Amino acid sequence: MGDKPKNNDDQDIKTGINRYGKEVKTAIPDDAPLASNPGHKLRTSNTIVDRKALHNQQKEKEALDALRKDTTKIEKLENKKQQLEYVEYDDEVGVVRLDPTWKDGSDAPNAFTGPSHRNKPQRFRFDGHKMAYHTDRVQAWLEGKRFAPIHIDMGLTKFCNVACLYCYAVVQNMTKGTMIGEKALLRYIEDCGRLGVRSIGFIGDGEPTLNPAVYDAAVLARKVGVDTSMATNGVRLDMDRAHDVLRNMTWVRINLSCGDAEGFSRVHQASADSFHILVEKIRALVALKKQYSYRCTIGLQMVLIPECYDQVIKEAKLGADLGVDYFVIKQCSDSEYKEIGIDYKSYLSVSDILKEAETYSNENYVVQVKWDKINAAGETALYKDGYRKYDVCYGTPFLLQISGNGKVYPCGPFFNKERFYCGDIHETSFYDIVMSDRYWAVHKDVSDSVDVHKDCAVGCRQDYINKYLWDLKNPPEHVNFI
Ligand code: SF4
Repeated sequence: MGDKPKNNDDQDIKTGINRYGKEVKTAIPDDAPLASNPGHKLRTSNTIVDRKALHNQQKEKEALDALRKDTTKIEKLENKKQQLEYVEYDDEVGVVRLDPTWKDGSDAPNAFTGPSHRNKPQRFRFDGHKMAYHTDRVQAWLEGKRFAPIHIDMGLTKFCNVACLYCYAVVQNMTKGTMIGEKALLRYIEDCGRLGVRSIGFIGDGEPTLNPAVYDAAVLARKVGVDTSMATNGVRLDMDRAHDVLRNMTWVRINLSCGDAEGFSRVHQASADSFHILVEKIRALVALKKQYSYRCTIGLQMVLIPECYDQVIKEAKLGADLGVDYFVIKQCSDSEYKEIGIDYKSYLSVSDILKEAETYSNENYVVQVKWDKINAAGETALYKDGYRKYDVCYGTPFLLQISGNGKVYPCGPFFNKERFYCGDIHETSFYDIVMSDRYWAVHKDVSDSVDVHKDCAVGCRQDYINKYLWDLKNPPEHVNFI
């Protein structure tokens, strides 16, 4: 082998002549172990790296394995052309390799190495699902077994103290004063622990903080090993229970679709005073979280409707000012009858504003638009106006929804449709409901009979997982050729 030009990647390129007089170019490192008798060598005369020996020499791997303990090695790697970033998560430290051509996180692919991630805005996976982390339940489903939901969204009440213009609960028969009783709620939480439900979101057809049992439910859920979260308008959040919320809930999302008091009055139809109370509560939550190192994620969510287009940037700035972890912008769901009257095409006119909002992301603050659903109106005609990319809803046993009156249904859009009623947690233990023939007959009815293109809410909660489950049930040919 002769001279050693370098290519763009700074690899050592060596040129040589093979036994037939042809030029060969290789990038074999000088220190790579070479195989002495590598099979075809006699026919090709090529120089072959001894991979078995190389394996033992993988210094970089050793260095990476030692990263958690040995920061001096980290620095050595940094000096070796690579830009590295360290991400702490739980008790671990992960390493992210950064490509110098990426201007910011948004250029990076959503790839993970251990607990770390290359693309910080994707760390919450807002625009997608996490079914890959629950393959045991998926396997049980494929085998036709009965299994507990991975996640449950549930209302704790059926009424609210504000009146957001976009509220889906208005099509779910809101009734003032109706809420799940404390005893039934706590028994239900215990049943969730027994069943192996992994998480519950107090997100439903009423404001959860109007049910005073929400705090004890979160405390008990943690004891029985079920993660909880809450989506709230926040105005009535009991700050005397703030520690219980922050200590026991995985995340709290404030449903706020504006960035100032005027926008609050318009979109949430509540007083400007309520806006100021809310802002101070969020500020206090963030301060407590920092002071006590609570893990609870605190975020803001805007439900996008034309009345709040002028509030998008204001709220992106407000979130940064408050120090919350994220601000997410999602589409407004509409019913099968389009009762909320959302013109999804109008979303396409505010793409630039939404993109600008995302630029307010920083190291500790993610602003993210749920593009997958916001852009649905830009799809081909086939997938517009509620048409889905699959034909069957398989998702309901994995992600169940319970109304704020304690009645269990496969999904929120089917609340009050008695054909799909599975039971009431005031009357029957949730454990027995999930084990009952009725419960499984209802899920089967959904997958057998529901026309997801016509009978369903636009952009329902199970949409992402339905796509995934449809693919599993309808594999392409040659699946073994992965
Ligand atoms: S696809 Fe239809 S049946 Fe399935 S969860 Fe969504 S709204 Fe309910």
